[in-house]
Amino acid sequence: MSGSLVVVGTGPGKAELMTPATHAALARATDLVGYGPYLDRVPALRGDQCRHASDNRVELERARHALALAASGKTVAVVSGGDPGVFAMAAAVFEALEQGDPAWRTLDIRVEPGVTAMLAAAAEVGAPLGGDFCAISLSDNLKSWTVIERRLAAAADADFVIALYNPASKARPHQLARAFDLLRALKAGETPVLFVRAAGTDEAEVVATTLAAADAAVADMRTLVIVGASTTRQVGRWVYTPRSERGAAS
Ligand code: SAH
Repeated sequence: MSGSLVVVGTGPGKAELMTPATHAALARATDLVGYGPYLDRVPALRGDQCRHASDNRVELERARHALALAASGKTVAVVSGGDPGVFAMAAAVFEALEQGDPAWRTLDIRVEPGVTAMLAAAAEVGAPLGGDFCAISLSDNLKSWTVIERRLAAAADADFVIALYNPASKARPHQLARAFDLLRALKAGETPVLFVRAAGTDEAEVVATTLAAADAAVADMRTLVIVGASTTRQVGRWVYTPRSERGAAS
């Protein structure tokens, strides 16, 4: 098979936060596959590049389409936001590969890393991910709410900083409130909570509050929520988590 497939992430939004390797992979591609708004972020699409935009919900179908295009000899780029491996298309491509035509496994398939939302969000406020942290998606499209609750409780028990992806959508307005209720029962009320909207773009907005006061209605689909560990603290206008478990290094 002569075609190839690369899975890329456009970063959190600003063109400078897209890696040079991603720019190069996009420039080489004959065919770009992705959710429409992510494809719109690709700078200067050339006339000889074919754009295959799709709805956000049909990831597996989109991945199969991309693999079939590569198998027919195209140089395909599958485009996600942020990093393509974080709650995004890279895993969908490998799921489609596992289920699909065995010949697809001989294709030249690569993944280019990108700047994921939690890194851009952390950078907006200081260094809240300075100690051990975890990332949990609150979307229950692909997993049950029971599993999400179990992971939130385990993360609270282990005192991880918790980055919450997909905190809310029109179809799921109540999940973040339920997550906060669960965490309030397990963590101190003064734990810092950060709502970072449109991180890494010119429209970035930060709301810094505490777990006791956090209002789930502040979050939307473009928001990343960070819930601190017991050591996460404020210094001036920044929030950070010390590297040491005892708090600030002496
Ligand atoms: N692959 C993406 C994440 C896809 S899940 C990445 O690595 O960033 C989509 C979720 O990511 C959104 O609901 C939101 O929680 C978060 N997100 C994506 N871009 C963001 C941004 N610029 N600012 C804050 N959160 C963002």
